[in-house]
Amino acid sequence: MKIIRYSLNPHTPPTATDSDPDVRHGDLSELPPEARLLPPCSPSKIVCVGRNYAEHAKELGNEVPQEPLIFLKPPSSLIASGDAIVYPKLSQRVDFEGELGVVIGKRARNVLSADASEYILGYTSVNDVTARDLQKKDGQWTRGKGCDTFCAVGPSILRREEADFKSFRVQTFVNGEKKQDAPVTEMLFDVNDIIAYVSAFMTLEPGDLIATGTPPGVGPLQPGSTVQIVIDGIGVLENSVIAQA
Ligand code: MG
Repeated sequence: MKIIRYSLNPHTPPTATDSDPDVRHGDLSELPPEARLLPPCSPSKIVCVGRNYAEHAKELGNEVPQEPLIFLKPPSSLIASGDAIVYPKLSQRVDFEGELGVVIGKRARNVLSADASEYILGYTSVNDVTARDLQKKDGQWTRGKGCDTFCAVGPSILRREEADFKSFRVQTFVNGEKKQDAPVTEMLFDVNDIIAYVSAFMTLEPGDLIATGTPPGVGPLQPGSTVQIVIDGIGVLENSVIAQA
C-alpha cells in the first residue's frame, strides 16, 4: 500500500492536519483525478539529520559529525508533490536536498536501536529545501531551513513491511538532469540509530517525519526549475519553483 492524504476541496492547504474534515486517506492508486494531493503525513515536528552522508559533508567543506546532527523544520514549511516551492526574496541561493523520509507509526520515547523498526510506519521522499546563504549567515538553521514551502514530502508513504529498504536509492533530477544518486546504505547513522538518538531526548508522535540527510550532489534551484526526488516504490516527488510575489 502507498499511503496518501488528499482533499476534494481545492482550497485545502498543504499544512492541513488530520483534524481538518476535508482531509482523506487512501492509496496512491485510488487518487481521484479531481483530488488535491496533500503531504502523506501531518507531522507535529519534522526532525532532520544534517551531514549524514560523508561525501555531502565534504562537498560543503564540513567535517563528518561524530553523532547525529539534528535540527527541525516547522510544519508550516510543508508542501505536497505538485505544489510550488516559493523562492524567497530574502535569499539569493536556494538549494534542493533529496532525502529519504521516515514516518513514525507509534509514539516513541527512549527506543533502543534494535527495536526502532517497530516504530516506523513507512518511508517517503523529502526535499529539504535550503536557503544556503541564510543558513551560513545566521549560524543556526531556523531561517535557512524553515521558510514556507521548504519541506516537500511525498507523494506517498510506502509501508515498512512492503519496503525493500536496502535497495533504496535517493535520486534527484532538476529539469530532467540527474543531480543526486546514492544508496541509502551510505548513511553515516542508519535509520534505527537516528530513532534511538532522537527518542532519547524527544518524544516522537505518530505521523512525525524524520528527514535522514542528503547525499552528495546538492545544488541550486532557480524560479522556473522543476525538481524531482525519486525513490523506488514511493513515486515521484515533483515540485516547480516560483519567485516570491
Ligand atoms: Mg538536509
